[in-house]
Amino acid sequence: MKSRWLFLSLALLLLPLGRASAQDLRVRLFSLHPPSDVILRATSGSFQWRTCPACPGTAATLLAIEVASAQLRIRDAGISRELYVTGGVRLEAVGEPALTANFPLELKAANSQLLVTATVPLEDYVAAVLTGESGDFRNEQSLRAMAVVIRTYATRFRGQHDNDGFDFCDTTHCQVPAWNTVPARVAAAVEATRDEIVSFQDAAAAVFYHQNCGGALAASNEVWPDVTVTYLRQHSDPYCVTNSPLKWESSFAASDISESLRQAGLAPPVGWTTIEIVSRSASGRVQRLRLAGGSSPDFPLSASSFRFAVDRALGWNKIRSDLYDVRNDGDHILFSGRGSGHGVGLCQAGADEMARQGKDYHQILDFYFPGTHVSRVSSQGWQTRTSERLELFTTAPEQDSKLLPDAEKVLKEDEAAIGWELPFRARLQVFPTLDRYRDTTGQPGWVAATTRGQTVRLQPVAELRKRSILESTLRHEFFHLLVESHARVETPLWFREGLVLYLSEPGKRNSGSMALTDDEMEAILSKPASRRDQEKAYSAARERLAALIQRYGKASVLDWLSSGIPAEVLARPSAPSNQGASQQP
Ligand SMILES: [Zn+2]
Ligand SMILES: [Zn+2]
Repeated sequence: MKSRWLFLSLALLLLPLGRASAQDLRVRLFSLHPPSDVILRATSGSFQWRTCPACPGTAATLLAIEVASAQLRIRDAGISRELYVTGGVRLEAVGEPALTANFPLELKAANSQLLVTATVPLEDYVAAVLTGESGDFRNEQSLRAMAVVIRTYATRFRGQHDNDGFDFCDTTHCQVPAWNTVPARVAAAVEATRDEIVSFQDAAAAVFYHQNCGGALAASNEVWPDVTVTYLRQHSDPYCVTNSPLKWESSFAASDISESLRQAGLAPPVGWTTIEIVSRSASGRVQRLRLAGGSSPDFPLSASSFRFAVDRALGWNKIRSDLYDVRNDGDHILFSGRGSGHGVGLCQAGADEMARQGKDYHQILDFYFPGTHVSRVSSQGWQTRTSERLELFTTAPEQDSKLLPDAEKVLKEDEAAIGWELPFRARLQVFPTLDRYRDTTGQPGWVAATTRGQTVRLQPVAELRKRSILESTLRHEFFHLLVESHARVETPLWFREGLVLYLSEPGKRNSGSMALTDDEMEAILSKPASRRDQEKAYSAARERLAALIQRYGKASVLDWLSSGIPAEVLARPSAPSNQGASQQP
């Protein structure tokens, strides 16, 4: 049921095809401080510019552009309403860090400012945002979780600036990309999760993230009253508070607070003396405050307007979250709080701690977005479902995911029998029809499943159930995964296959009638000519391994997978006559 080597060439067919341009995103650059002029410099050779998408291009190594009365003035080249640039360029704008981009750019004038938009393939956008967001991550699996969340956000919320002519800005309003160099570990995390998104009911989930929840994750409607989704619910986060809980304190003079409120257009009562907390949300975040003790009645205030006013006037990030206590101390007010950010969705500090403790990115995403699963952006109907140790890849997730509990059980039994654990999450790919299974695997219909790498590819589940071989097939293939995870490259096929067959049915009696030499078994298993030949080789390999295990013990034989098969074992006489029942053909 397994022919590992035949599939090496077929693997090429499964490589991703070219990028779909439908996945490209329009990202506005310099959103926070739009420049009124910019210099474009070629990063290698020259770039091309044109004044309409279909116009002929002009090569240049340097171009200076400034806004002049709703037009672009291109130094030494005239005036245009728009400008389109392709090729690697470095953008230099006064007062902004230079930015290197190798994506098509569009430049327009709007309100005496330059509107610069880059058209970026989804995976490049994910890499740029992960670069901008990954500074605090120390672990590979938390980086992967973040890559999936960034991609999900981009998929779910693309077009949120449609009215302005682009998909995303480059500020914290959307996500903050860093365009210059993508570090190798970021590129690896993006590649390892290519196309993967968090989904809920077959659509990209509404995901959010923040720096540190302070141990208490907020439900989405605590922060955005109209966003209520089950996977963004309030729960505690034991991870971000494990090692170095983020605690902060800020003290302000009452007069400074009054001034900052006035600057924000609010009118605090004259002579107020204390700030009191009126209400908190389910996660403990302050919702409403009151300025009390003044001449006029108490002054109610929402925590978010208060934070915004104080942060803007007295220093950004002085009040890092709404999870705080207030102490009134003479004419000063002391805020002592935990965490940083809104607390909804993935907590970056907690995710990194989970990864440090050995959790993988699926477990991290399960924890922060309970009830969702990881699936693919562009998969022609293929979707992913995960269970504790397995990942199901299927076109009929509702129906096929019923297989997962049984498969988990079989995997655990296999691991107990062999005495070691699978060092990765195994993937089960279930084909919707026998034809598609045959087309993709190149296997005849009588081969129920094949294993390649970390993936077991199965015929339609209904087909296997009908033949009552679902469980035995899973058992066999999981033993293959376990054996392959330990086998050195030169381990012969007959040894691998015989071992798996023996482990799958250790109590089966030997028929003793199908002896073949090791070379004959190897030849048949590497290229079986018929079902009958293959069954003959299976039977011989199984008996060969049963005899070895009887003679040397199971532990030694399993050990040979990694240490190598001893020469005396391989140099057996061509007929295993010492077993008494063999017949040379
Ligand atoms: Zn935005
Ligand atoms: Zn947390």
